[in-house]
Amino acid sequence: MKMSRRSKTVAITFALTVTCAFIVPAADRAAHAAPLCGPLIEFENIADLPADCDPTGTQIEFENGVVLDVPTEPDRLVTVSALGRTPSEGYELSAYLDESFNLAAADDGTVLGSSPSAARTLSDELANGGEQESAPRRASPKCATNAPYLLNRKWAAKRYDWYYNNSGAPVSGGREAMQRAAASVSTGRSSSCGNRDSALITSNRGTTSRSSQVTRDGTCPVVGDNVNVVGWGPIDSSVLGVACSWAAIAPGLRLESDIKVNSNYKNWYVSGSSCSGQRYDLESLAVHEFGHAGGLGHVGDDESQIMKPFINQCNLSQRSLGRGDQNGLLRHYGSA
Ligand SMILES: [Zn+2]
Repeated sequence: MKMSRRSKTVAITFALTVTCAFIVPAADRAAHAAPLCGPLIEFENIADLPADCDPTGTQIEFENGVVLDVPTEPDRLVTVSALGRTPSEGYELSAYLDESFNLAAADDGTVLGSSPSAARTLSDELANGGEQESAPRRASPKCATNAPYLLNRKWAAKRYDWYYNNSGAPVSGGREAMQRAAASVSTGRSSSCGNRDSALITSNRGTTSRSSQVTRDGTCPVVGDNVNVVGWGPIDSSVLGVACSWAAIAPGLRLESDIKVNSNYKNWYVSGSSCSGQRYDLESLAVHEFGHAGGLGHVGDDESQIMKPFINQCNLSQRSLGRGDQNGLLRHYGSA
């Protein structure tokens, strides 16, 4: 099945190359006629790929064992972000195919490319959403004005319209918790640092029977379905939530962001009496995931921002944005 899909991709790519031969540079045509670089490329080998192999339709295996499909069309970026229970469990991985069919990938802070320009483009994209300005990364208290943030691609229309799928939810009240979290991100809500309202709108357009496009391996399919879905499903690792995002870098478009909460974990705290014991707060997790959906990336392990890659048990202050989270959203969208 996979082989035939790859063969088809090659055939389509070849047909396109012939059709468009008059506008495609010679080097790209050569790359297309070349054998696949895969099927499976180890992340650490990306910079050493043969110059004439074709990465479309292959897969990248990262050091933690998570695999991402390489985009099948040029200028596509896919990013998977997982929220763990410990700093080492969380991950943020990206695969990018540039307009010349060069490959780049990112494993948390490390970016490698089959060409220097693809690696540079991906670095800029993941550090600051393609804006040529670096964000502060220094460790700092939750509300320090220079608290860290990372910008991934933003929504050009300043809107994240999402649908909710309650199927598989092990607790009740999930949709309301998601709506509260979405509102916190769009309004920059923070009981600790003071509210700072960005112009981002996050709007729950209703419920859906569509699944969020996150696999049970805790990774993203090669393309989404152009509908932003927040939902539940089993993920076969101990991460608690995963966000998948797709973007086209050249025109500056964020295309889709989906969120899946791991339904294998049943002991979510939602609301009511005080949270106690070894439980995770659903709203806190959702604030983090809507941060991704709004275009933020993970910051360092020991940060007090919501975009740190792990979540603590029963710490409801994680529902409240840090100044870095707020600054990131304000940089992306401006003030409301
Ligand atoms: Zn995350």
